Amino acid sequence: MYTKLTSGAIRQDFPILSRQVYGKPLIYFDNAATTQKPRQVVEAICKYYYEGNANVHRGVHYLSQQATTAFEGVRAQIVTFINARSSRELIFTKGTTESINLVASSFGRMMNEGDEIVISAIEHHANIVPWQMLCKEKKAHLRVIPVLDNGELDMEAYAGLLNQHTRIVAITHVSNTLGTIIPVKEMIATAHSLGIPVLVDGAQGLSHMRVDVQDMDCDFYCFSGHKMYGPMGIGGLYGKEELLNRMPPYQGGGEMIDQVTFEKTTYNELPFKFEAGTPNVADVMGFGAAISYIDDLGMENIGKWESELLQYATSELKQTGDITIVGEAKHKTCVISFLINGIHPYDAGTILDHLGIAIRTGTHCTQPIMDRFGIPGTMRASFAFYNTKAEIDELIKGIEQVKKMFR
Ligand code: PMP
Repeated sequence: MYTKLTSGAIRQDFPILSRQVYGKPLIYFDNAATTQKPRQVVEAICKYYYEGNANVHRGVHYLSQQATTAFEGVRAQIVTFINARSSRELIFTKGTTESINLVASSFGRMMNEGDEIVISAIEHHANIVPWQMLCKEKKAHLRVIPVLDNGELDMEAYAGLLNQHTRIVAITHVSNTLGTIIPVKEMIATAHSLGIPVLVDGAQGLSHMRVDVQDMDCDFYCFSGHKMYGPMGIGGLYGKEELLNRMPPYQGGGEMIDQVTFEKTTYNELPFKFEAGTPNVADVMGFGAAISYIDDLGMENIGKWESELLQYATSELKQTGDITIVGEAKHKTCVISFLINGIHPYDAGTILDHLGIAIRTGTHCTQPIMDRFGIPGTMRASFAFYNTKAEIDELIKGIEQVKKMFR
C-alpha cells in the first residue's frame, strides 16, 4: 500500500486530480479546507440514492429497514475507528462546527454566572465563537491559553488558567493554520485532575493520525467527514455516555423523542436524543466509504507519507530563501503557513492559482493567530496522501516566478 502512495498510483481513485485549471494540471494543496473524494465515496452516495433511498428508524418496510441497518452500520464503523465504547457515544452532526455548537448549547445550559471556559489562542473560529456566545448569555468568562512563537501552546500558562471556576476546556487537536499537533492527552490529564471535562476539536486530527478516544480520555471529540475524504455536510460528535446522558437535548423534533403530549415530552435514548429530524443518510453512506478507504490504506502509511511530504516541502521552501514559515512546532501535521517576504499573500496566491496551484491565502478562520503574529494573513499549503513531491517542486517553481514578478 505504501508504494501506492509514493508512486502516486493512488491518484487514480480521485478523478478531480487529473483535471486542469487555466490550462494547467491542477495541483491541489488546500486539503486543510477540504479533501478530495475518492470514487468509492461518490459511488456509495449514488448507490444509496439509486437503490436504497428511504427514511431511517421509521418504517417497517424493507427499504427503510435496509437503510436503517446501513446507517447504523456506519455508526458502528466510526465507533470502532475512534475506539468509542458504544454506539450511544456517537452522534451524527453536520460537522465539527455543529458538534461544538451542540456541546456549547447543551452542556452550556448547565453553566452559571462566573463560570470559566478555557480555549487556546490557536483555535479555529468554530471553537471560539460558540463559547463566546455562551459566555455572553451566561455571564461566564473566556480564558485563553497563549501561543508561543514557534506555534506551540504555553503549557505553564495553561496549568495556571485552570481553577475551581473552570467548567470546560475546549482545545484543538491540530491547528489548521500552523499545523501544530497539540499534546491533548497530557492537557486532558491535567484538566481531569481538577475534575474539568475537555472537548477536543478534531477537524484536523482524525484524517492524519490514529485517534483512540478512550486512550486520549477526552470527554468530547468533534470531527467533519469532508476533511477526511468523505462528503460535506456530515460529521460527528463523540461524547462520554455519562456526560451525554446528563446533558439536555440540543434540538427538538422527530426522532429525538420517546413520548409527546402537550403537557410533557420524554426523550429518546442515546444517541438519538441528539439527532432531531431526518438525518443525512446518503452522506453517512459516503462517510462510511471514506473510513473504509482510509482503513484499507492504513493510517500508519498515510501518516508516514504525509510527514515525508511535510519534511520535503519545509526544506525546499527554506532553501528558496525570502520565506518566513509561520509555525514551526516540533510536532506538526502536513500544513505549512508561510509568507514570501515583502509580498502580500493574496497577490502571491493569485499568481500561483493561475499556474494551477491551489493553496489558501488569508486568515484561515483563525484571525486571533494573525493578530498574535502581527501579520495580515498567510499562504497555506496543506497536503494529503495523494500529493506528490513533484507537485511540491511545482510549488517551489511557482514561488520563484512570484518573486521574479515582484522584484
Ligand atoms: N476546527 C478546525 C481546526 C478546522 O480546521 C475547521 C475547518 N476548517 C473547523 C473546526 C470547522 O469545520 P467544519 O467547517 O467542517 O464544521
